[in-house]
This record gives sequence, C-alpha cells and structure tokens, in this order.
Amino acid sequence: MKIDEIHGETPNLELKVKILSLSRRETTTSRGETVYYYGLVGDETGVLPYTAWEFPAPIKAGDTVQIKYARSRVYNERIRLYFDSKTEILLKPGEDIEVKRTYKETKLMDLSLKNPFVTVTGKISNMAGKEYSKAGNTFTIYNGFIEDDTSRVRISSFGQPLENGKIYRLVGARVSEFNKQLEISIGDKTEVYPENEDMDFERYYKLFEVDNPAGGITILGFIITLGTKSGIIKRCSECNKPLSTGVCPDHPDKPTKLDIFSYFTLDDGTRYIQCIAGKKAVMPFLGIKEEDLPRVAGDIYRMLEDRLYGHAVRVNADFIKNEDDLSLRVNAISAITREDIEKDIKVSQ
Ligand SMILES: [Zn+2]
Repeated sequence: MKIDEIHGETPNLELKVKILSLSRRETTTSRGETVYYYGLVGDETGVLPYTAWEFPAPIKAGDTVQIKYARSRVYNERIRLYFDSKTEILLKPGEDIEVKRTYKETKLMDLSLKNPFVTVTGKISNMAGKEYSKAGNTFTIYNGFIEDDTSRVRISSFGQPLENGKIYRLVGARVSEFNKQLEISIGDKTEVYPENEDMDFERYYKLFEVDNPAGGITILGFIITLGTKSGIIKRCSECNKPLSTGVCPDHPDKPTKLDIFSYFTLDDGTRYIQCIAGKKAVMPFLGIKEEDLPRVAGDIYRMLEDRLYGHAVRVNADFIKNEDDLSLRVNAISAITREDIEKDIKVSQ
C-alpha cells in the first residue's frame, strides 16, 4: 500500500517507507515508566507521522524499511500510523525511496528559517519582472509582495510571473532572509495554484505580539522620542547612498537629491520600538511635496517635532530583524481615526 491510499482507520497495513525522523520519549503511565518512539515516514506519495511502542534498535532515520501489521488511526484530524508489538519492521539495506515532501501550511507571520520549505497562501502585489543575461541566456526574475491576514513579505519568482491582485497557494515555497526581512521564493519544485477566493487584510498588532520580521503591519502608538538628527539628507542620484559631504565618492559628477531621514521611538502601551521613516512616509503626513523639499529643508526638524513628537499616530511598517531586537521601517504615517480606535479595542480584547 502507498501512503496516499491510507484513509481513516485501517488494520494490518503493509508499507515500504523511508524513516524521515525518529525520536524517543519516556513517559509515565498507570503501568509505570514506558518508552515510545515517534517521527515521520514517507514514500513516493506522501508523508505520515507515526507512533511506535517498539522499534528495532539498528534502524535509524534515513533507512528504508518494509513494515507489516501496522495500523492507521485518525488523531487530531490527521492520519497517524501506529506500530506495536505485532508490527514487523524490516530493514531494506541499500534501498532508497524518493519521498514526496509535504509542506506545512504556514501563515506569513509564522515564517521561520527553521522551516525553509512551506505552503503559503496569499495575495500578490507590485510584482514586476527584471531581465538578466547569463552565459548568453536571458531570464527574468519577478519580485513583488505576498500578503495574508497576518503579514506581508517580499516574494521572488524565477521565470514564472504571478498576477498582481490574485491569490495563490504556493506548495513548497522557500523561506530565506533578504535585507533583514524574511522572503518567499518560488523555485522549480514549487507548485503554484491560483485560488478563487479574495482576501482583504487589516493587520493590526500590538508590539508585544510580534517577534518576527513581519511586514505591512499597522501599529497605533505614541511617539515618545524624536531623533535630533532627523531632517533633510542628501543622497547620490546614481547609487542612493546618503552623502555627508554632498558629493558621492563613486559618482562625483552625478547630481544629488534630497530625502528625509527621521527616527523616533513608538510606544503602544505594550512595548516601545525604534522606527525609521523616509520621505515616502513623512512627506504625505506633513503635507509637503517633492518640489517643496528645497524650500522647507531647514524647517523639517521643527515640523516633525510639531506633528510627530508626543502625538498618537497610526503607522504602517515592516519589522526589521537586527542583531538583538526588531525595529520598524515605516511605510506610512497617519493620524489616528475613530475606526482605528475601534479596531484597536477589538485587538486588545
Ligand atoms: Zn553614488
């Protein structure tokens, strides 16, 4: 029998599988101390968890075995295999099985480098392709965002575009780290399924709830400090580097451009966090436009002090993973609305 043919409770199963993991645990029952084993087995059709009351000592993870007189039961809505004293587990030396991996359905907030392959479902936005040439071949890498009701993260896809505004289920997507955040990528082995449902997202969190570099999160809080060096900075128009001298060492003939750099501490009553915000977030909040920047450059700090410092605001931001903690890269700042407060109360309850 193959793993994908097992449904519900079945006695006397005979299977040829690979032991994917094997753990031993001691437990105390009414009959005293007992030992049992548990882990995962798989074959070409799938993977199942097992519990074994007896397990032949020489067999270890990675071995292929023939199993007779096992049974299956449904436990926690999932099929599980049970091996007991009647079950025969026979080592098949030199035999290997290509196991079809199953990937755990994971919310974007729960992505972790510890589980590098997962199944995620989310809505795609801002996806655009960029062509690269290598050894005479041209290929396209698509970059954008994927979001669900818990977080928004970057997604990249090699050669395969996804449609903006559509929901996809991605089986066997890869989790990696990019620019201090987690990223999803689609490779050759990722299965891509378009979904019909639509999703709408409002991701309100309290700071203490977030311990993962999640993105596109709304936080309501008070700005309790404003960095004294916040204000206008110059950047190279070519490489975007901030320039302390006003001239880029790598591109001395290129023009410079103005940006706003601001940093502050946001406190939402559960925790406080360091934030940085650039002109994309700050200009709309202060009600100034790109062409106003040269004229108001000297006033920016005073405007920030006036409008941000000591005020309650709503920020939409990405959490950034630093060495020891998280900070926020702010995408947008706005005044708190009545609707925000109602949602905040809901989150707090
Ligand atoms: Zn430069």
